[in-house]
Amino acid sequence: MFESLSDRLGGILDKLTRRGALTDADVSEALREVRRALIEADVALPVVKSFTDKVRQRAIGHEVVKSVTPGQQVVKIVHDQLVEMLGSDAEPIDLNAPAPLAIMMVGLQGSGKTTSTAKIALRLTSQEKRKVLMASLDTRRPAAQEQLKVLGEQTGIDTLPIVAGQTPVQIAGRAMTAARLGGYDVVMLDTAGRTHIDEALMAEMAEIKSSAEPHEILLVADSLTGQDAVNLATSFDERVGITGIVLTRMDGDGRGGAALSMRAVTGKPVKLIGTGEKSDALEDFHPSRIADRILGMGDIVSLVEKAAREIDQEKSAKMAARMQKGVFDLEDLAEQLKQMEKLGGMSGIMGMMPGVGKIKKQMEGANIDDRMIKRQVAIIQSMTPQERRKPDLLKASRKKRIAAGSGVAVADVNKLLKMHRQMADMMKKMGKGKGLLGKMMGGM
Ligand code: GDP
Repeated sequence: MFESLSDRLGGILDKLTRRGALTDADVSEALREVRRALIEADVALPVVKSFTDKVRQRAIGHEVVKSVTPGQQVVKIVHDQLVEMLGSDAEPIDLNAPAPLAIMMVGLQGSGKTTSTAKIALRLTSQEKRKVLMASLDTRRPAAQEQLKVLGEQTGIDTLPIVAGQTPVQIAGRAMTAARLGGYDVVMLDTAGRTHIDEALMAEMAEIKSSAEPHEILLVADSLTGQDAVNLATSFDERVGITGIVLTRMDGDGRGGAALSMRAVTGKPVKLIGTGEKSDALEDFHPSRIADRILGMGDIVSLVEKAAREIDQEKSAKMAARMQKGVFDLEDLAEQLKQMEKLGGMSGIMGMMPGVGKIKKQMEGANIDDRMIKRQVAIIQSMTPQERRKPDLLKASRKKRIAAGSGVAVADVNKLLKMHRQMADMMKKMGKGKGLLGKMMGGM
């Protein structure tokens, strides 16, 4: 997410902060580079212009250049202006309406609408403790209703039974009635998409809107389509009226322009971002945290929140107690690796840490990646419980068996054992254990 932009801006601002004194000309020059970086990231031109104008107004000719740390002041101004451009405050889904409350999902085909419907339903169920019903109003694509049903089965969320031959408006009506009778809090209406905007689609959306009276209408847009996503949001807003935006594929290597200009151009908040194909790959859009990520300050708050949500507290507490006694066997190592995987693997964790760019490159050089975590877990899983508790048992023949069982070379098994030994030693020395993640974060 935002990697190349983050690298560019990081470089420009680094140069500024490393210099002691700054002249207005230095700041102007840096701002020209910032402007170029934003344009290359595919941010809408008027947004770039207003952004750099505002930064310039605040940074030039005022106290900045005379202050003790002029470079840092400029970074702060850029940061604050980024936050403003992104919409200042996070805007979560609004659930303040009598039940059943309808959330209508709109967007083009393939944008991630159905996936996002299930993601949001899952989040409202698990985090907000709401009872959610999902209904597909897509009668055009034969497999669409089935797709939502399968997602419902996977996530344990109820879907409206499929009745052939009904119109989208009829299905929406049936969903609202079923929700009323079944005591549901929220109804997710997944509407049909098209490959492009057309009159029939807009008419259908307007009709569903007036019959279901949704409390939220969320446009799902693919962030990889850049400015097209922004134009799409504008069109949908003019014709149907939207309350917010879900930007998908933020895990891809898009240039970030859509995320950066969406709010400023459409006036509508980006409420959520999709960061993967799995049903839990959904994050809130926090302007200040996104600005932190873009400026390479990391997003420790999101990381800690995610850790609190994902990590099994009970298991962690047990492990911490063991480590306090200096025990750290291969079972414990496997558990730590699995917890890291839950947080999105190394790339997920690194992506949220400050000064990521450089570390990440080093890690890539050292071949430390997510596949490696998976491989290590596989190696440990090929051991017997006894071996996991007593790694000393692992002599040549056992290592051979384990390597064959997990599809790696004996050298890989040795590497893992060495890593385990080092970590076990470290755990012993560091005493009071908080888990690997706790240590990594404590060390920062
Ligand atoms: P729809 O036609 O708009 O309903 O799109 P789908 O929900 O069927 O999604 C199309 C494809 O995009 C599927 O393969 C999804 O798994 C994938 N997808 C959806 N959201 C994301 C996301 O945030 N990141 C990634 N990487 N893939 C996504």
